[in-house]
Amino acid sequence: MAKKNKLTPEEELQQYRAIGTVNECQEAREKQTAKMPVDWSELKNFNLQVYAIRGDCPSCGTEGLISTTGRYCPRCGQAINWGRWG
Ligand SMILES: [Zn+2]
Repeated sequence: MAKKNKLTPEEELQQYRAIGTVNECQEAREKQTAKMPVDWSELKNFNLQVYAIRGDCPSCGTEGLISTTGRYCPRCGQAINWGRWG
């Protein structure tokens, strides 16, 4: 009798699906962890006081995110850590 060390196509598919689910969970969890924006800069009012921070999404690179408009990237859902401007 032949040793059964090779997976059937159905078993392989099941394994891929299991791995895919794990990766998706991990990705979702990472996006819930707030990250600092990339290339951020300070926005100042006429009195030269910083009122907001503008930066790019650290996950998908969406440009021009502003701290006053929300804590999440509108494109990919990445939580943004705006520091004290969040
Ligand atoms: Zn994003």
